[in-house]
Amino acid sequence: MIPKSFEEISIIRDLDSRYFGCLDLSDPKNLEIKSVVQKTVTTIQDDIAFYISKNMIVTHELTSKVFDNNSTGNTPPDDKKLHDVENKVIGFFEEETLAKNQFKNALCKLGHLHLLLGEYSEALSAYQKYLRFNRNNYWKNHEFIYGIGIAYFKLRCFKWAIKSFQELLYLNPNFTCANDVHLRLGFMLKHCGEYHIALKHLQLALLYTYPSTFSELHVKFQIAHLYEVQNKHKAAKKAYEFLLNDKNISLKLRADVYRQLGWMYHCVECLGEKKERESCALTFLQKSIDADPKSGQSLYLLGRCYAGINKVHDAFLAYRNSVEKSEGNADTWCSIGVLYQQQNQPTDALQAYICAVQLDKDHKEAWTNLGILYESCGQLRDAYACYLNATKQASCQKATILRSEDNISMNKDAIGFSKGLSQRIKFLEIQLGQAPLPSITSKRRQLCSIEEAWNLPISLEMNSRQQQTAQMLPRQGPPPPYPHREISESPTPAKRVKDDALNPIYNRSEQDCQDTIQQNKTQYIQFNQNIITTLSTHNLDNVQEGRLISEQSILDSYEYISNDLYTKNTNCKFEPGTILSINNDETSRHLNEDSEYTEFNVSASISDLSQSFKIQMDSKQLLSAVKLLTIEDPPINCTVLQVNTPPPTPPDCPPQKLSRDQLLPPTPSVHLENKKNAFSPQLQEFCLKHPIAVVRGLAGALKLDLGLFSTKTLVEANPDHSVEVRTQVHQSPDENWDTSQAKRVWACISHRSHTTIAKYAQYQASSFQDSLKDENDKGYAGSQIMSDSDSKDSVSNSNITLKRKKHKSSSKMLRFGTNVDLSDERKWKPQLSELQKLPAFARVISAANMLSHVGHVILGMNTVQLYMKVPGSRTPGHQENNNFCSININIGPGDCEWFAVPDAYWGGIHNLCEKNNISYLHGSWWPVLEDLYKENIPVYRFIQKPGDLVWVNAGCVHWVQSVGWCNNIAWNVGPLTARQYSLAIERYEWNKLQAFKSIVPMVHLSWNLARNIKVSDKKLFELIKMCLLQTLKNILHTQEYVKFKGVEIRFNGRGKNDASHYCGQCEVEVFNVLFIKEQEKRHVVHCLSCALKLSPSLQGIVCLEEYRLSELQHVYDSFTLYRTQGLAYTQ
Ligand SMILES: [Zn+2]
Repeated sequence: MIPKSFEEISIIRDLDSRYFGCLDLSDPKNLEIKSVVQKTVTTIQDDIAFYISKNMIVTHELTSKVFDNNSTGNTPPDDKKLHDVENKVIGFFEEETLAKNQFKNALCKLGHLHLLLGEYSEALSAYQKYLRFNRNNYWKNHEFIYGIGIAYFKLRCFKWAIKSFQELLYLNPNFTCANDVHLRLGFMLKHCGEYHIALKHLQLALLYTYPSTFSELHVKFQIAHLYEVQNKHKAAKKAYEFLLNDKNISLKLRADVYRQLGWMYHCVECLGEKKERESCALTFLQKSIDADPKSGQSLYLLGRCYAGINKVHDAFLAYRNSVEKSEGNADTWCSIGVLYQQQNQPTDALQAYICAVQLDKDHKEAWTNLGILYESCGQLRDAYACYLNATKQASCQKATILRSEDNISMNKDAIGFSKGLSQRIKFLEIQLGQAPLPSITSKRRQLCSIEEAWNLPISLEMNSRQQQTAQMLPRQGPPPPYPHREISESPTPAKRVKDDALNPIYNRSEQDCQDTIQQNKTQYIQFNQNIITTLSTHNLDNVQEGRLISEQSILDSYEYISNDLYTKNTNCKFEPGTILSINNDETSRHLNEDSEYTEFNVSASISDLSQSFKIQMDSKQLLSAVKLLTIEDPPINCTVLQVNTPPPTPPDCPPQKLSRDQLLPPTPSVHLENKKNAFSPQLQEFCLKHPIAVVRGLAGALKLDLGLFSTKTLVEANPDHSVEVRTQVHQSPDENWDTSQAKRVWACISHRSHTTIAKYAQYQASSFQDSLKDENDKGYAGSQIMSDSDSKDSVSNSNITLKRKKHKSSSKMLRFGTNVDLSDERKWKPQLSELQKLPAFARVISAANMLSHVGHVILGMNTVQLYMKVPGSRTPGHQENNNFCSININIGPGDCEWFAVPDAYWGGIHNLCEKNNISYLHGSWWPVLEDLYKENIPVYRFIQKPGDLVWVNAGCVHWVQSVGWCNNIAWNVGPLTARQYSLAIERYEWNKLQAFKSIVPMVHLSWNLARNIKVSDKKLFELIKMCLLQTLKNILHTQEYVKFKGVEIRFNGRGKNDASHYCGQCEVEVFNVLFIKEQEKRHVVHCLSCALKLSPSLQGIVCLEEYRLSELQHVYDSFTLYRTQGLAYTQ
């Protein structure tokens, strides 16, 4: 190693990912630092090479270990195989701890330095190698997680960036750059369509009063854009206008706001009359260009607006300017192609489209338009190739991310369009199958083939050509009107394709076929022009633009965030050796070569200390151990799982390969004969033993009066009671199609609204009447209404499938009445008391039910909910809140069909959701069964008849569809078992990482359990005690920290049945120590992290305490393992 000067070493030692965005190495002022950084990069690279060569001989003899790539969720998407040499080195270093530490810290430092130099691929590569060395400990190095997150972000691997950032915030919500992390997460989640969570992160980013690398206005811009992509146009407009009124707005941001506003005026009908909107659009886009003359994006959109009002010349001009400003934009080229095509200049159009698809190989619109162009010239083979490219699934991850907007902004026009496309492809397949290819393409060819066009270097030529054209245009007089506009009213393309397909061309000779094609050419042209017309009037002006803008504005603001934001930052100034200097006083170490790469001594020592916390400690020992913790920094994440544990990840599926039979296991079911059966302990045991169980004949055995829950009785009791309604598409239970009915998907669409019991009852009844009428009209008897048959599940399944087939094509909408709240005892007394007849383990309230120990109502969990259904009503896939068990009774008269997957496989389903770009926790999904079987995931499938109770065990993933007209009632229970408790706690932590609110306050519940019950199950005891330990430690640590900050803690106490508290900002549970801040005249509870975001010194924040410390200490110390001969609640 080359010795460096003291100063150089101290500069390098302090540099890490946290300086990203603060330290601009491209700034001439920082030239000196930059050269030190570059020199160090070379040195480290040399060191690594030196280590490798030095150890080559040793490693050569070591058998290189097989490297486990799948152990954590952080395995990068590509770069999976390590180079041989690296593998051997890793094998060697696993033996040599000391050398390994130095080596891996060097890798991490290398990652940081590359990151600061803006060399993101190099940074990612170094970080990924570091990660391979640190599978088990990487999470203790927060600077590393931040750095790799930024590298992923910069390289647009959003999925991985999101993962890293979520872990970072979970591990340390107070991380120095947490506000940047929130902004980036908000930005990426918005991009991925997870709007709710995106908004949450953006609002958290807005909360910060710390100096940060972006301004408040940038965050507000992102929030305004979030409204825009959700089609909340008025809110978006208001938010944008608000930004324009701010006098601190930068020129660049002003340009962005004007651009978005201009484009909204162009696209959004509710913003006024078309003429006015168009003129506003032009004005705003022009203002945007004035504010930022370099914006190729605004110029492009201006061109689109001109094209929309037939100002072809102006459109060309704007496009040309846009190409000059930002040459690499496929959308611009695509739009230029459309203009040329409309001007009947096919060669120019071809070249423009080729430019588009060369810039973006997955550009669907350009491929489609190009196909149409070829078809109109009779070049079917080329057209076919283009259509195929247009329908091809976006291949790389980047494209998936880019185009995820597609799924969101789906609407009918776009769907019709893609449907037409697949019909075109089928049609061309037939045509091409009949005609030998060369003869079609070689003779009457008007355009060069797709291969030739692809290989021509046309960009430059295109540029000049385009300029010529633009100059020529005025002389050509006004542009021709859109061709054959009136034809768009004529027979639909779909029908035409059908007619064509019926042509008896199969036995014809080659020449005949050619002739047919020629004859049909007129038809094609008409058809094509229909499409072109459709494209230009509908798709381009509305649908596509809607899509394009959301994508492009995101792209644009992405660039915006990633470039502008960080170079113009003025809040953080870099002064070598003074900031963020963790080890400032340890000067002696500066000259120590080995410590040069030592990164995270502080966090390492914290985790060492954490390890000393054990559930065997009493509260006094705990208190003195806490005194040893640092109070300079706020206490970080309080995980209640375990001491010193990595962030949670979804589990891998059980590895054993299942046979086809095992993938379709029989559903555990039991038939009750009488009341004695129902109350036998064996029934509870049976239920607890299986992932899911169906208890048949329960209502009969207990003589439950299900009539109390019939629609008729409900209407008589409370007609005006509120019902949430989900409007859904009626589908066969084992199928889920996208809205165009073109492919099977996971995303399950339903729209939410509200009504009353009386109105829903009316709907339910009329839906039933209508179906009776239908059945009579069709002349077949037997309906799905009453499930009077005694048939076994499998038989009824096949009946359903048969019946469904008939329904499939009609794709009618239905309304599902859901989440009807029956918690009010005054309103629903007879109903609720009837449920007292159930055995204790299934009752809504019982001492053996954890949820009865929460002490307050959690709607729908420890209270009853009702579901009112017509056939096809869907409850999409989910696990219950915090993995609690659930009880579901079918009131009838119709059946329900259930699908269920054991909890051990939830990670597999989670991954499939991710693959389908849908959020496991927030999204609405209906699994494609074949996808599950392919992943070796078993599925229970069964029918629940009236009077049957379904027991959903802890963590079981399930989805349900009604077969007939029926009502269901359901609630959650929490048996006092270690399994239930640990699954609830695991989900509590996973929710925290995903920024998803846990509606069961597990900490509050655990303290109540410790007060109320005696636990004899050792495992359950240890888990609860661990939660108490972790929370008590966190409370003590927080109080020490708050006192250190000079803030007084006031005792507030709490009412007996007060609801537990959640942070008003981030929605984590806040237990015992509450930070109150008045916001908009309301007193809002905050967690410590959010309070610190609002006020780093905690000034202006009131700190309240709910319990006396002595009381908590007493509860903690008194909670001991209850030794008994099986008399406790637990087994
Ligand atoms: Zn919070």
